[in-house]
Amino acid sequence: MRLSQRVANLPPYLFVEISRRIAAKRAQGADVISFGIGDPDLPTPPAIVEALIAAAREPANHRYPETDGLPALRRAIAGWYAMRFGVEVDPEREVLPLIGAKEGIGHAALAFLDPGDVALVPDPAYPVYAAGAMFAGALTYPLPLRAEDGFLPDLRRIPPEVCRRARVLWLNYPNNPTGATADRAFLEEAVAFCRRWDILLLYDNCYSEVAYDGYRPPSVLQVPGAKGVAVEFHSLSKTYNMTGWRVGMAVGAAPAIHALFQIKSNLDSGIPQAIQHMAIAALTGPQDYLADRNAIYQRRRDRLVPVLRQIGLTLVPPKATPYLWARLPQGYTSGEFATMLLEEKDIVVTPGRGYGEGGEGFIRLSLTLPDADLERAVQRLTGWRIPPKG
Ligand code: PLP
Repeated sequence: MRLSQRVANLPPYLFVEISRRIAAKRAQGADVISFGIGDPDLPTPPAIVEALIAAAREPANHRYPETDGLPALRRAIAGWYAMRFGVEVDPEREVLPLIGAKEGIGHAALAFLDPGDVALVPDPAYPVYAAGAMFAGALTYPLPLRAEDGFLPDLRRIPPEVCRRARVLWLNYPNNPTGATADRAFLEEAVAFCRRWDILLLYDNCYSEVAYDGYRPPSVLQVPGAKGVAVEFHSLSKTYNMTGWRVGMAVGAAPAIHALFQIKSNLDSGIPQAIQHMAIAALTGPQDYLADRNAIYQRRRDRLVPVLRQIGLTLVPPKATPYLWARLPQGYTSGEFATMLLEEKDIVVTPGRGYGEGGEGFIRLSLTLPDADLERAVQRLTGWRIPPKG
């Protein structure tokens, strides 16, 4: 059978390989503790699940959904933007529900990139930005994220000839995998850069509601004029512990929202309507659950950070995201280290290299595991030191 070149060009999807290794270890009887994938251990809040159950009983929700979702969902998204960010958006023209942010991010490449175009993609980054560009036949220009720059790309270093060919700029703050955050000044700089070069700013804000120490991440759409050049992606996955239900949204520049709708309407048939009712319940219902959940992640963060430092890793506790991004001692590659930790301690971490070359020398740990697992991992690591390389 002859497969397409784009399939042949794909690296293995990071978490597929990690799941395979965990399964192999568990089959040998090991008590594997996973800090791997960022998939909340806590359940979807009960009121949201109740909305699903009620909606599932309604025959109207058993039929094909519309690609652009229920009008009530688009209004709920617009209402949430007004409440959370003080940003007014038109639910008819500036909002598009998604089957999870990943779906919208992948399809965005088909809506905004032609073969030979350039996509500006941070390195390290969520792998779907670059995969989407590759599917669209576009080229990826990597923007290094360096610890010394707070893991923000230096937009001034991009050569003018690259800026001229670039069609989209991907940014993601609070950031996966580094846990870094961007302040308003950086968002203003990014908007100005995109206006100057006529580049569409694709801002992945999936972690805006997972934040600690009183920090409230901004929306890029709060920057004056951003709606002319930016689309922001959100996900209910991490916000409301809804990874399994698959719902997110794109909000922003009306022509871009329409283009994404056109691609999607040819490829998918929208979000199952009962799940749209969950999303409405989540976005319009009480939000106090978020503070309680964030307090749990914050406590886990504060428990784990000192132990990671004690074993020899270097890291800054994140202000947002469920991720710890830790620098390895000299000489280790992230793949070697992750393998050693799995072999010696039955602990799974994500090798930074899986997020691009710029992730080499780091590992990512997700705080989305039960407290009891975290505690066992802490016990296993306490008193251990990473052996020097060489
Ligand atoms: N964007 C980033 C940066 C992510 O880390 C993830 C999931 O891990 C997603 C998007 C995908 O979110 P969703 O579950 O809504 O598809």
